[in-house]
Amino acid sequence: MTSAIPHALRSDTLPRPERVAAAALSRALAGVAPAQRDAARQEGLDLVATIAGLKPLCLAGRGVADVDWHAALRRVAAEAGLCLLEAAPWFPADPSGTLPDWYVAATARRGAATVAYLCRDDAVRRRAAALSAEGRVAAADEAALLGYPVCCVAQHHRRALAFERLRIELLERIAQGDRERMARLVAAGIEPLPTSEADWRRQARLTAIAPAPATIVNMCDACATDPESAAARLSRRYRALAAAAAYPGT
Ligand SMILES: [Zn+2]
Repeated sequence: MTSAIPHALRSDTLPRPERVAAAALSRALAGVAPAQRDAARQEGLDLVATIAGLKPLCLAGRGVADVDWHAALRRVAAEAGLCLLEAAPWFPADPSGTLPDWYVAATARRGAATVAYLCRDDAVRRRAAALSAEGRVAAADEAALLGYPVCCVAQHHRRALAFERLRIELLERIAQGDRERMARLVAAGIEPLPTSEADWRRQARLTAIAPAPATIVNMCDACATDPESAAARLSRRYRALAAAAAYPGT
C-alpha cells in the first residue's frame, strides 16, 4: 500500500481506464436507491482504486443490495481487465482458538452465499481463492489483499471475534446448551438478539465503526485519532483519486 498513482492528481493526466471506469460507475450510481447510494459510491471508488493499482482487489457484493449495481461493478471491472472471483466471504482467523469447534464447523457450513472479488490479475485471484477456501483468514493477509492498514484490519478482526463469542453466549441461552440445536441455528444464519441491556451495549460497542472518509476502511482507535495515521493518509489518497477521476464527491 505504499504505491501512489504516479500521475493521478489531475484528471487530464489520469490514465484512461480509471477515467472510463469512474464515468461508467457514476452513471450506474444514478440508478441506485438514495438510501444505498453512499455505500455504493464508496464501493465504486474502491473499484477505481483497484484499477489505478492502489490495491490488489475490490470486495463487492456486501452492504449494497442492488442487482443492477452489482452487474455494473462486474462489467466495469471486466472492461478494465480485472479478474472476477465469486467465492465464500472471509471470516477472521481465531489464532488463540477461542471459538468452539462446533461453532467454527457450523459457520463453515453456511457456504451458499458468495461475494465478488474483483482482482487486479490472476495471481491475486488465486491468493483470494485460497483464502476463501480456508474460510478464516489472518488480518495481515486480508489487509494485504484489500490494501487496508493492517492495524485497522487487526482491530476489526478482534472485535468481530468478540462479537462471535457474544453470539455464541446468546445461542447457548436460547438453546440451553443443546450443541446440535445451536449448530443448526448458526448454519441457518440465525442471528440471536441480546436479551439484556448489558448485552445490547456490548453488541453496540463491538459493532461500532469509524469509517475513514472516501474509503471502506473501518479505522482502528489509533488511526481515528491521528491525522497522519495510515488510514488518514489512505483517505487523502482516495479523495485525490476521486477528484482526479471526476467521481462523485465523498
Ligand atoms: Zn489503523
